[in-house]
Amino acid sequence: MALELTHGYSSTDMMDVRLPYPGLMGLGELGARCTREQLNPPSMPVPDALARVRDLVRDDIGAGEVHHEIPALAKVDPRFFGIAFAGVDGSVVGVGDWTRQFSIQSISKLFSLALLLSLDGDEVWQHVGRHPSAAPYNELPEIGGPVPRNPFINAGALVVVGRLLELMDDPRRSLLDLLRVESGNPSLRVDENVVESERAHGGRNAVIADLIATSGRLSRPSGQLLEQYLHQCAIAMSCAELAKAGLFLARGGVLSDGRALLSGSTTKRLNATLLTCGAYGASSDMAYSVGLPLKTGIGGGILGVLPGIGTVCAWSPSLDAHGNSIAAAKAMSLFTTLTGWSVF
Ligand code: GLU
Repeated sequence: MALELTHGYSSTDMMDVRLPYPGLMGLGELGARCTREQLNPPSMPVPDALARVRDLVRDDIGAGEVHHEIPALAKVDPRFFGIAFAGVDGSVVGVGDWTRQFSIQSISKLFSLALLLSLDGDEVWQHVGRHPSAAPYNELPEIGGPVPRNPFINAGALVVVGRLLELMDDPRRSLLDLLRVESGNPSLRVDENVVESERAHGGRNAVIADLIATSGRLSRPSGQLLEQYLHQCAIAMSCAELAKAGLFLARGGVLSDGRALLSGSTTKRLNATLLTCGAYGASSDMAYSVGLPLKTGIGGGILGVLPGIGTVCAWSPSLDAHGNSIAAAKAMSLFTTLTGWSVF
């Protein structure tokens, strides 16, 4: 007899659906046969939800200010807005400027952390904490003080790149290769104008890199830390490319070719860290309003993870006081409300 499920699927409906990667966390036997999207269909079809989100954020686009400390970012037109959804089934849909590339900035921190976790496992947490921080993302670390509070503030991200430099021959290349393969765009590149602009105007990050390098905990000089960091922040990607590149976080750590970058439990922990620390001092507000693990960047992008279902990435350049995009944050919140999908 077919097993009846509350939403109307029966186990026989699912027999033919097979995932290209191992079972999903918590779904047991059914998890090996169907996506969570099928177990938990959206309240509104995703293309309709995306179109509705765009209508509802129209008045928020351009509110706030484009990041102005890095001149190359200050030039970006505040009227851009895009949002894309990538499903674990391979579907990718979007509206607005969802295929236009922008500076991924701090969103890069989640990918470099994933790379480091794949090499270093829990050792990472000897070097950086995983505590939310209400301080600004570019807060100076204390000299001789505790490890940086989390890997997503600049001090923590510089520790992560320092460890990558210790463990890999060419982490800049490895990170770009990971993003190229997972996004499906082999031409992804670092925007050298953004690197140059941030190098010339990002004196605070140079100070943070010096403080981290002289802490005695890392062997690489501050110049190397800073260059690796500036290059990862200046990678240019679209909402569609970021959504695809982040899908391993929705697939329990499994990459597009079926290999596991991270174990299921490490992925769970990385997602938990994104939920609690991914939006700087606004992380708890974002957990409340969006309900997803996510990472924001001062380029105006936000990448969120719907475990077992897919990823959603929104972008609009104007930011609030925390450095998070106003229209993208609202779009993410509307998307989870309209689809009924969140981790809660
Ligand atoms: N490159 C930026 C900085 O370090 C990244 C910050 C961000 O996106 O939050 O100032």
